[in-house]
Amino acid sequence: MRERLVVVSNRLPMGDTPSGGLVVSLHDALAASGGCWIGSHPEPGDDQGQFEAIGETPYRRLAFRLTDADMENYYLGFANSVLWPLCHRRPDLVRLAPGYREGYEAVNRRLAAMIAREVTPSDLIWVQDYHFIPLARELRRLGLANRIGFFLHIPFPVLADLSIMPQPEHFAEDLAHYNLVGLQTRGDVARCLEMFRDDPRAEFMTDGSIKFGEHVAQVRSFPIGIDPATFREEAEREVPDPFGGASPDLFAIGVDRLDYSKGLPNRFRAFGRYLETRRDNTRSDVRPCLVQIAPPTRQGVEAYDDITEELQGLTGKINGQFAELDWTPIRFINRSVERPKLARLFRKARACLVTSLADGMNLVAKEYVAAQDPDDPGVLILSRFAGAAEDMTQALLVNPYDIEEMAGAIDAAFRMPLEERRRRHESSLEAVKRTAAMLWAESFLKVLKSSVTTFELRPEGETPLPAS
Ligand code: UDP
Repeated sequence: MRERLVVVSNRLPMGDTPSGGLVVSLHDALAASGGCWIGSHPEPGDDQGQFEAIGETPYRRLAFRLTDADMENYYLGFANSVLWPLCHRRPDLVRLAPGYREGYEAVNRRLAAMIAREVTPSDLIWVQDYHFIPLARELRRLGLANRIGFFLHIPFPVLADLSIMPQPEHFAEDLAHYNLVGLQTRGDVARCLEMFRDDPRAEFMTDGSIKFGEHVAQVRSFPIGIDPATFREEAEREVPDPFGGASPDLFAIGVDRLDYSKGLPNRFRAFGRYLETRRDNTRSDVRPCLVQIAPPTRQGVEAYDDITEELQGLTGKINGQFAELDWTPIRFINRSVERPKLARLFRKARACLVTSLADGMNLVAKEYVAAQDPDDPGVLILSRFAGAAEDMTQALLVNPYDIEEMAGAIDAAFRMPLEERRRRHESSLEAVKRTAAMLWAESFLKVLKSSVTTFELRPEGETPLPAS
């Protein structure tokens, strides 16, 4: 029987041409296997338990709908007000409300029932991200013995934070229902294994896999990447000047969803501190800028509204202190910018600031490096707490809590001699190529296909489905 790939993610890519690391990476694997991609429809509604087929691609796309209550309890609630802050080391921002956990479980249960009607026993199922941690448990409950993989795109939480979650014992148990748990970095794997080591229900096998009741799971890192060649082409393409002829002399760029995990307030403070202390303060002809693109995200969650206000305040304060009639030091753009323009901006920027307090990987760091002119590259300033820092050791690594250190890094990046810029860029580009998007899907699926399905499922009164 044909081994199709079935991908499940919160968002279903709606366009007909693939874009973005994850979509590009999965596109070929899905097309080659004749599989399907299952995800939520951008419009809320009631799907009556039936998938809706979307558009034309070489593979099927099936959408389910989220009701307004699902949006509140599952998406904005448990996924983004409990799991997201918990995994990003912000337990202070966790909000526990009565319907959240049940809403999250209910969406996963309902989706499992829809998926179970869709798949055949030989299909490989690959579940993406923290929205669907219990999905394998629900699928197993329905009798599916397929190989099921999971990839967590965000950081694996630290053990001490897990107990903040309602029913924290479910976390390890749910993950153990997957044959393969993929994480971004070696640091994430270490934290995940620590969780299993701490759990008396888990047993470590000699090959490093974890036996948990009747289930056996492997935990491995698969750092996600971008398609560097395509990004470089986009950066090189002649497009109209994004600044409309008013390009700053020297600028650093930041591109992030407006999320508290991205460390934006400290980044703005560090830029202010740099302006205060920069050694060429007397040179009035150099007007350095910070161009910060920060599209809003998850509006309606309190912590996101708070951070928008904080950044508006900081921008006003710093610009008020340093601006001249013909110079605005911080350009804070609270909207999204499309990729080709972004690629062009990256190439023009002398530095890129990625100062996340916690980040699964951070693709912007990789895109910035891929977009540079290797003969005259800019400098990546990268938080030690972004997954990308594990491999991009030649970036200027900073502690995003240390404003003085970040201000120093901005100064160093703006002054860095060409030879050092080239050396650092060459090494970072190697890391970007080593973890290119295509390799990510390939290597994950290779390990998933060879995983052992040792559990046996015996739903009452039913014959177990054969493992492929
Ligand atoms: N992005 C974009 N336009 C914007 C802001 C971001 O296309 O205005 C893209 C960016 O190029 C990157 C992605 O969104 O590909 C963000 O991925 P990243 O891993 O950096 O952060 P995440 O948003 O997943 O936390």
